[in-house]
Parts: sequence; structure tokens; C-alpha cells
Amino acid sequence: MRNIVVKSSLSLTVQQRKKIEDAFYKKYGDEELFFRYLEDKNLLGGVVIEDGERIYDASVASALYDFKRKGEEYINQILSDKKSLPGNWKEELLDSLDGKAGSVEYGRVTESADGIITVEGLTECRYFELLEIDKGSYAIAMNLLTDCVKAMLISDGSNIEYGDIVKGTGKIVEVPVGDALLGRVVNPLGKPLDGNSVLHCEKRRPIESPAPGIIERSKVSRPLMTGILAIDSMVPIGRGQRELIIGDRQTGKTSIAVDAIINQRKSGVICIYVAIGQRAGTIAKIIERLKNADAMKNTVIVASTADDNAALQYIAPYTGCAIGEEFMSQGKDVLIVYDDLSKHANAYRTISLLLKRPSGREAYPGDVFYIHSRLLERSAQLADNLGGGSMTALPLIETQAGDISQYIPTNVISITDGQIYLESELFHSGVRPAVNVGLSVSRVGGSAQYPAIRKLASKLRLDLAHYRELAVFSQFGGDMDESTGKILESGRKITEILKQAEGAPMSVDKQIIYLYLINGHIDNVPIARIKEYMEGFYQYFVNSDYSDLKTLRKQGVLTDEIRKVLDADVINYDIYFFKEKKDDAER
Ligand code: ATP
Ligand code: MG
Repeated sequence: MRNIVVKSSLSLTVQQRKKIEDAFYKKYGDEELFFRYLEDKNLLGGVVIEDGERIYDASVASALYDFKRKGEEYINQILSDKKSLPGNWKEELLDSLDGKAGSVEYGRVTESADGIITVEGLTECRYFELLEIDKGSYAIAMNLLTDCVKAMLISDGSNIEYGDIVKGTGKIVEVPVGDALLGRVVNPLGKPLDGNSVLHCEKRRPIESPAPGIIERSKVSRPLMTGILAIDSMVPIGRGQRELIIGDRQTGKTSIAVDAIINQRKSGVICIYVAIGQRAGTIAKIIERLKNADAMKNTVIVASTADDNAALQYIAPYTGCAIGEEFMSQGKDVLIVYDDLSKHANAYRTISLLLKRPSGREAYPGDVFYIHSRLLERSAQLADNLGGGSMTALPLIETQAGDISQYIPTNVISITDGQIYLESELFHSGVRPAVNVGLSVSRVGGSAQYPAIRKLASKLRLDLAHYRELAVFSQFGGDMDESTGKILESGRKITEILKQAEGAPMSVDKQIIYLYLINGHIDNVPIARIKEYMEGFYQYFVNSDYSDLKTLRKQGVLTDEIRKVLDADVINYDIYFFKEKKDDAER
């Protein structure tokens, strides 16, 4: 027997009831039907019918709700286009809503615990569909089982009761995308967190979408400058590349990513910083830094804090990625930072355990590898016929005691195009950024590097690795031959030059000049004055304002002309620099 509940604001007449009953007898054929009629003043007018599978909603209350919601969207859209509202906007809206009182599938909550609800009765539900629960809460469908659906709550679920109605929305979770997001801080559902005005976004995008296919991609061929000399010279990153930043806690991972964002303020690259399960104070500090550096105007921050539920933390990177994809599809270049994927894996583990999915190594579910590759594959350099946009990803991973062979680190290392490995020991000995050159690689960035940087930096990596190796042995003391001494000496100088403060990105021409000097022009400079020498020479050179300087800045090409000028300048500058020193000594 099928129960059919008919709710109306006033009691229905016999004719009205007969009309409804006839319609359902026609729909269900020989099934036995039992009709219950209830009065519900909250409906304001019209009827709502539940037949055990679907809700047919033709009430005034829901029409008003729709009117309000659609009305807000409509007005926002017109305002964002900077047009004025047409005189007949109410009629237009009503027209667009007319006849929309359709039916939706519904089920009921049969269990709710730890942010996971079990819903019975939803037969048409899709994976990752957004579900709406009676009292204004939302959940995402995760497990589709034969007799029920398990979903994770993405809003507060403390008021959910047994038997609450859950409606399928038929939509995958979507977030607002577009230019209106620039300079804003939003949560993983796209709601503004910065207390500023509402968002005026015309477009929305599902947070889950397939990655671009092979044909849709092209080669990574343009550099993405982080402004950090150690990285741009030895572990170069290209637009569309995925480069992992990995290291123990407090080794400067976030600082490198934030510096890379700051360096994009004039490059036209749009940046997205996704905070996953971080302390609210840390996120506030990052926003402050970006604002002070004037880098917020081309940046979007997607923030999920440590006290957000695991579901929100889990969807945060997908939200950031969807926002980035919109810009990429417009042919723009995007840089996205996921800070960090270790916390993301933890959030997903929490959800999977609560969903009672089978767990594997370190209690992570079997598909923890897949959720990260699915995310990172969405970064790409699109082919020219698709606009040629790109999305570069900098995922972060935190290791324990420098162990990169743990489960999550090895997974992410294998799906990225290289990694920047930061070492605690280096960091604490004052080598900051603490990039371990030996363990850091970039598998595709080399071909995207500026020609001059590539040429000048080719030996640097080897020299440094050689130096670090020798430095370990030299700690034991003992005699050293002259050549070893020289390698150590120059290694120390290079290490000193590569040290760089936070928030002080280096321009392309400065990097080239520094690399030029490193290549055989610093032998006479004492280590204590090396930084002063480099900075001084750069200023000296730039102030002379050569015509080829523009080529150096824009294209990163070291012409013969410039090289000649540089060679001459070094000689002149040396005289000046060392004379000054002598003067100091005499005084
Ligand atoms: P966590 O594991 O807590 O996320 P993290 O690896 O992201 O840490 P950061 O927060 O970036 O590390 O940096 C740790 C500290 O080191 C910060 O106080 C930061 O100011 C400092 N720091 C980072 N990079 C540099 C640098 N190049 N020069 C000087 N100080 C730095
Ligand atoms: Mg950090």
C-alpha cells in the first residue's frame, strides 16, 4: 500500500480531492493507495503532495521562496552588469517562474552522527549530488547503496532529526566563479568570509569536473617565476606544471608559496590560495602579507579552517580548482597553491572512516591516491585552440622527520612534475629558503626557463651538490688540497647568495645578473661582503641604463652586447668596490 500525503493551507473540497486521487490512480495503476489530507497554514496557499518518492510542490510558500532567491540572483546579475533594473522586473521574474512548481525526489533521514547522515528513499541520487535537508542544511552524497544514501554534511547538522525530509537537488556541488572573486576570501562553498559586500558572480561551476584530455593540452613552455633565485635557477617551474613543495613543519613551505603569489602581482597571473584545515590566525596573517604586498588584487583565497568540518576541508581544493579552471578557460594564466595536501588526506581519511569505507595503509582509504591525482590532473597548459590558458599547481605536503617515503608523500611525488624539498637542518642553520638541491627536481620546467637563466644556471646545481657533499666530509677536519678548498669556498659563497628573505622577490634581470656573477666573478670577493657586492653591482649596472636592458628584462636573453657591457662593468666595479674597502681599512 502506498501512502499519499496531501498538505494544503485550507481544507480541500470533495471535487478537488477527487481530481488529485484520480491523477494518482492513473499514475500508479492497480497499486492500493491511501490518501491522507492535512492542513498546513505555513504553506500560505496551494498544495504539497508527497507520494513516498517525490514531492509535488505547488505551494505559495515555495513560490515565494523561489521568488526571493531567484530575485536576489536576478538583481545581483543586473547590478554586476552595471545596468539599472528594468521597470517591469517583477513581471519578468514571475513569468520566468511560472509553471516551475515541479516535483523533486525526496527521502528521509534515518541516521545522523559525526557529520554523516543516512537517507532512505532517494533513488535517483548521483554521486557528489548536493542534498537539501528540511531545516536549511546541506549535505553531499558520498555512498550510494542499494537501500540508502550516505552523505556528508557541509553545514551545521545539530538540528537534524530522525525523519527529516531530504531533497535531491539534481546538481553536483557548484561554486560561483569569475572576476568578482578577485581580492576576496571565500569558504569552500563560495560564500564570502571577508565581511565585504555580497559576491556578484553570474557564473557557477561544479567543483568536480574532468581534467583536460591529452589533445586539449600542449607543452609547458613558458616560465612561471617565483622570484626566488634558488628555485627559478635550479628547480624552474613552467606555466601549467605541478610542482610539489615538501618538507617538515616550519621549514618555510607556506612562505615560498606566498612569495610566488606576491611575485605575480605584475605578471598578469591570477593566483588562488587554498587553505586546508589551517588555523584561522595563520590564514589571517597570509591575507595580511598579501594585502601589504599589494598582491590581493589578483588573488582569490579559499579558506577552510581547522574548526571547519572534514567535509568542507575535503572539498576546499576542488573549489579552488573550479575557480581556477574558469580563468584558465578564458585563456588566462593561473597559479594555485594547495596548503596543504597532508591535511586534505587527513580530512578525507576522517570522512572515509565515518562512512565505513574499507581502510588501507595508515588507515587511509584505497582511493586517497586517486583524489589527489584527480585534483592535480586538472592543472594544465591548454592548447592554443582552447585559448592557451594555463593552471600551475603548487601543492604542499608536510613530512615527519624528513621522511619522504611515507605513504602520502610518495603518492603525491609520483603524480607531480617534480618537487622542491625543504630541509629542517638547512632552515635552522640559516639557509633560507631551505631548498635541498640534491633532492629537488623539476621534470618539465627546464624547457620553459628563460634562455639566459638556463644557460648560466646549468652548472650551479652540480656545483652546489658537490659542495654539500664535500662539506660533510670537511667537518671531520684534516688536511684539504687546494682544489677542495676552492670548491668549499665558492660553495659557501653561492649558498650565501642564494639566501633570500621572505617577501623580497627578485626580478628576472636581477636573477640573470646574479647568476652571471656567480659564474666566475666572485672569486676575489670575501664571503662576508658577498651580498653587498652582488646588490651593489646590480644597482651599478641598472643605473647605467643600457638599451638592451629591456630585452634582458622582457625576454630573459643575454645578448652579446650586454655580455660585453657586463664584462667591462665588472672590472670597473671591482676597482671601485675594493678601493672602498681599502679606504675603510686605512681610516
Ligand atoms: P607549517 O608547517 O607550520 O605550515 P611552513 O613550513 O609552512 O610551516 P612557514 O610558515 O612558511 O613554514 O615559515 C616558518 C617560519 O619561518 C615563519 O615564521 C617564517 O616567517 C619564517 N621564514 C620562512 N621563510 C623565510 C625566509 N626565507 N627568511 C626568513 N624567515 C623565513
Ligand atoms: Mg605552512
